[in-house]
Amino acid sequence: MVFREKLPLENTVLTFNDVILIPQKTEIDPYEVDVSTYASKSIKINIPLISSPMDTVTESDLAIQLARLGGLGIIHRNLTIEEEVEMVIKVKEAEPFNIHLNYALLDMNCIDVLKLMKEYYISTFPIVDNQGKFIGIVRKEKLISNLNGRVSDVIESCSSICNVVTSVNQILNIMKSTGLDIVVFIDDYGKFKGFTTIWDVMYEKPFQPALDNEGRLIVGAAISPFDINRIKKLEKYVDVLVVDVAHVANVKAINAIKNFEKEISCDLIIGNLGTYETTVEVITEIEKIDGVRVGLGSGSICTTGIITGVAAPTLWAIAQVADALYDYGLSKVPVIADGGIKYPGDAVKAFTVGAWAVMLGNIFASSKESPSPIIRIGNKQYKYYRGMGSKSAKEKRFSIDRYGKKIKNIDEGIEGLVPYKGSLKDIVKDFVSGIQTAMGYIGAKNIPETWIKGKLKLITQYGKLEIEPHSLKLSID
Ligand code: 5GP
Repeated sequence: MVFREKLPLENTVLTFNDVILIPQKTEIDPYEVDVSTYASKSIKINIPLISSPMDTVTESDLAIQLARLGGLGIIHRNLTIEEEVEMVIKVKEAEPFNIHLNYALLDMNCIDVLKLMKEYYISTFPIVDNQGKFIGIVRKEKLISNLNGRVSDVIESCSSICNVVTSVNQILNIMKSTGLDIVVFIDDYGKFKGFTTIWDVMYEKPFQPALDNEGRLIVGAAISPFDINRIKKLEKYVDVLVVDVAHVANVKAINAIKNFEKEISCDLIIGNLGTYETTVEVITEIEKIDGVRVGLGSGSICTTGIITGVAAPTLWAIAQVADALYDYGLSKVPVIADGGIKYPGDAVKAFTVGAWAVMLGNIFASSKESPSPIIRIGNKQYKYYRGMGSKSAKEKRFSIDRYGKKIKNIDEGIEGLVPYKGSLKDIVKDFVSGIQTAMGYIGAKNIPETWIKGKLKLITQYGKLEIEPHSLKLSID
């Protein structure tokens, strides 16, 4: 397969913005498109989305939620070793479905409980006493028929409870036997820990949780190839370690990876890679390559290309790296497009030239689950997002060896605000549905078919203006 030839101008470094996907005869509807793929040789994901290991993107909350939706989160390494391990363990210990912490109290008005229930689309709600003990449930129809009354008038005892979660099936069985649409979690003393609903465990395709062999959520962790202590501590818990250096085709980084590659039992994703030649250098030296992270300089917070004049924009780089892997018998190594992905169409453009999945920083930074708090300016809401090579990220000493002061003084990233976009679930669902729609237009039933069927053509500056919304005085968001 020659992916480089699929890019219109072979000797020009093209970016996502330079090309468009060409529509083709299709036999499928978007919802039928299979977006499952591999993040690394042994890690299957149900949606092709992986989160960037950045300290304003992936900590345990986002990794848990992303794995619940079928993707993979990579915990960043701007942390102590203990903190990073703890975050990984938190993901592994999390239930593979949502747990809600809301409840109602015995002396509340029925009408107020109905308001609380509204967001869950359920007909039952848990009631807790003033000491935090779970004491029963109320049903929606009884609340409605007793609108001016209190919870204490309509409360019922409930056996839809669970101490230790073992599987989704266990939850479904409890719901079946009680006929209720929630299961309440309590501790050994009967204290309320949360509840889950039928909607949290009846997954709509393709958003089934991404699980390991023991039914736990999958998770990855970023490492420096030089930090052997971190590698040894993390590899016991994670599904995949991700080498997190800007340019892995560096003799010192390659030698460091060679020193530990035989000692780890989990998968290893290496990166970042950017050209055919450097990929050959790396893959002929390193034996354990379970996945590659590709792209240099395209990230939305990245200044490497501008400051140094050196870049391997993600779309172009994917074709380069995918061809090198193919030519050297490594076509089964998943390729991750990393940096500069703004739209679902960019992901499909990346698939067209050989990517298996995309890594997102900016898009996920804008979610409720990313680590920074919501910032309000006027009537707009934002989240903080920074490059790992930005001044402030480097000030946290643990990022030192990626773009660090020891070897480089220049900052290679910036910081800023991204518009707050709400829950990761909604962001992911929209993004995946955009990918399915794009794949539907080009007649690709799955990602491997996109490698073959996807066609890219150059678009001019005038063309770009035409395919963007235009000729409106004001648009209303
Ligand atoms: P985004 O999704 O925001 O366009 O790109 C995220 C990607 O940018 C990350 O996965 C990582 O590869 C890259 N990145 C993160 N921080 C920096 C930085 O400070 N400088 C550079 N050059 N790239 C960065």
